[in-house]
Amino acid sequence: MRFASLGSGSRGNATLIEKNNTRILIDCGFGVKDTRNRLARLGLELDDLDGILVTHEHGDHIGGVGRVARACGVAVFCTAGTHLTGRLGKVPDLRQISSHRKFAIKDLEIEPVPVPHDAKEPVQYIVGDGALRLGVLTDLGSITHHIRHCYQKCDGLVIEANHDPVMLQNGPYPLKLKRRVAGNWGHLSNGQAAHLLAELNHPGLQHIIAAHISDKNNTHELACQSLAEVLSCSTDEIPSIDQEEGLDWFSLHPATV
Ligand SMILES: [Zn+2]
Ligand SMILES: [Zn+2]
Repeated sequence: MRFASLGSGSRGNATLIEKNNTRILIDCGFGVKDTRNRLARLGLELDDLDGILVTHEHGDHIGGVGRVARACGVAVFCTAGTHLTGRLGKVPDLRQISSHRKFAIKDLEIEPVPVPHDAKEPVQYIVGDGALRLGVLTDLGSITHHIRHCYQKCDGLVIEANHDPVMLQNGPYPLKLKRRVAGNWGHLSNGQAAHLLAELNHPGLQHIIAAHISDKNNTHELACQSLAEVLSCSTDEIPSIDQEEGLDWFSLHPATV
């Protein structure tokens, strides 16, 4: 199983996961042309996609989903709450999911996990192939017992390190937005992400990727530093996802006994 990103941040998110001939996107915050170009960097086309999993209705996640689905007919999976917002527009193949029930798309197993975020029925996803599991976790303001439980023993983690609290405090956002970002239904700070990583870390964790890094209230260096400190490793060992460049393929390998 391998994964990549078309980009991550407040101007668009899309995580790509592949196992054999099964390829899914988690979210698509980019328009059709942009998505095509970003997929092409990774050697893929729109028609290679077997599904788009939507996490929630914020524009940086759902912005391109409807248009991409209409362009290539790919199935879109989302919760009832997300669907009811009407933000997807008309989608040719819409599959409503339960935020507590696992399901499969060809060779990939999908586990939705509800998260505290200021959207109607937001979920994040753990995607597995029967042997390996990639946990993708962004857009949450606080960490629940259920999240801690579900994300145990992942082989790879794409985790939000959205903001540095001091930069957020001194940054350009209006007070209301600062409170929203820092609140329990906003986004994880570097410290919150590090704290969670300390709980989820285990010897089998192969890749930790910093995601959804704010370009106004954080730096990639600060985000990676916070996570690297937990693992006592160098910041070079913690890749982060660039808004424009995305992230090249990373592979997860079964443990060798
Ligand atoms: Zn977001
Ligand atoms: Zn959001």
